[in-house]
Amino acid sequence: MVARKKNKTDDEIIGMKEALELLDVTQPTFYRWIREGKISGNKVGRQWRFKKADIEGFLRGESPAQKLPSNFDGLISQLEKATQKDVAKENEKEDVVDYAVFLLLQLAIEHCASDIHLEPGQPGRIRYRFDGVLHEIVNIEEECSKTLIKKIKTLAQCNVNINDLPQDGRIQCELMKTKLDIRITFLPTIAGEEAILKLFSSTENFMDLEKVIAQKNHLATIKDSLSKSYGLHICCGPTGSGKTTTLYSMLQSLDHSGNKIITIENPVEYRFPSMTQIQVYPAKGLDMAAAFRSALRGAPNVLFIGEIHDAITAELALKAALTGHIVLTQMHTDDMSSALTRLLDFGVSPYLIADSLGVVVSQRLLRKLCPECSKASSLNGDDLKDVKKWAESSGIKFEDLSKEWKSSEGCDACKGTGYKGRISVNEVGTLKPSIIKSMIKEENREALAQKIQNEGIINLLGESLRFVSEGKTSLSEIKRVILSSR
Ligand SMILES: [Zn+2]
Repeated sequence: MVARKKNKTDDEIIGMKEALELLDVTQPTFYRWIREGKISGNKVGRQWRFKKADIEGFLRGESPAQKLPSNFDGLISQLEKATQKDVAKENEKEDVVDYAVFLLLQLAIEHCASDIHLEPGQPGRIRYRFDGVLHEIVNIEEECSKTLIKKIKTLAQCNVNINDLPQDGRIQCELMKTKLDIRITFLPTIAGEEAILKLFSSTENFMDLEKVIAQKNHLATIKDSLSKSYGLHICCGPTGSGKTTTLYSMLQSLDHSGNKIITIENPVEYRFPSMTQIQVYPAKGLDMAAAFRSALRGAPNVLFIGEIHDAITAELALKAALTGHIVLTQMHTDDMSSALTRLLDFGVSPYLIADSLGVVVSQRLLRKLCPECSKASSLNGDDLKDVKKWAESSGIKFEDLSKEWKSSEGCDACKGTGYKGRISVNEVGTLKPSIIKSMIKEENREALAQKIQNEGIINLLGESLRFVSEGKTSLSEIKRVILSSR
């Protein structure tokens, strides 16, 4: 969920191999420099990671800009200290716990983690999510975990005395020049209390639409749709598919002085000073529909509605689009065919959809093969069969694929996972006469999907296959991300 600009050299993180090459020294010498604090680095599991800027700074004779903990042991010993009963003064103990929370967040930022999980147990564990996949970092004693969660509750302005009911909290802070908005959920579990911290970077880190949407033809379709003065534009995908980032990028592309933008969200995930943002409070009667009606009275050009999940919001959004508004929203559906089917299931007229729908962007995030350890490879018989079958079912020609297959084994740079960073894969489509006809004839989703495919709109499987054939990702990512949700 954390959206970041592509690393500049300043922020670039490199592995042991690359660091050794830059410094042109032997590994023992390098280890000695790390021990002596001449070079700072982080260790996750058995993998070392360094800031390229730090290594380059060292070459210029500079000392490390910021002393970073060399691994998680520092964090754990701080925590253990914090939970020991013999810590003399209470205020001293506070300092130690504060530092432990700081370390927890600092390490998350350093490693671009999107969320942190503090899970209870004997022992409990701390897991970080990198590139959409959870990694266990350390085990943690029950007492440490409790102390840490209590501190986080205080920071998140939650009730520290409640640990048998769920609570939600929020921390806004600035760490290592990164403005963070952290959403925290505390869950009572049978093993004890659990905390899940979701890290959101601030709005200035939002990416341009050009960087979010990988393919030029998709970008052109989206921009063309957004350039019209009205239309409902939908982003589809499950949680964690990056659709919020894409939607906000679309919203930002419309954010200029001539446009009045009102957003209706639950919750407001990012703050934009130039937009009017409304947080819904269903408990107080301000639900999506009520907020939407009020927002329309605020004379907006652009409306952003967090999600369409019922007939009322669907109808309101489409009618607002029809009456000269640009409306952006998301739906928890797989793709264009399922989004259209869902709207029809809500009882929305296909004619209303035909008149007001703009572009439908479906999205998933695939992990990219690590550039440092991925190598050209060939497909085995079974994989080749799969690829041919998937290509055919997606309406693309096997002959047209690049066939630059790659595989990776894992290295320091990718923490041994074989992947580094993610790429968004999209199905981008607008309505065509044959699709509208299919909706009016009340054809089922499969028939609708076939019409969409016949119009040359390539589905997520087909687009992913192209990425695999270009050596950008792997077939197992297709299985994990695309096929598992079908
Ligand atoms: Zn690697």
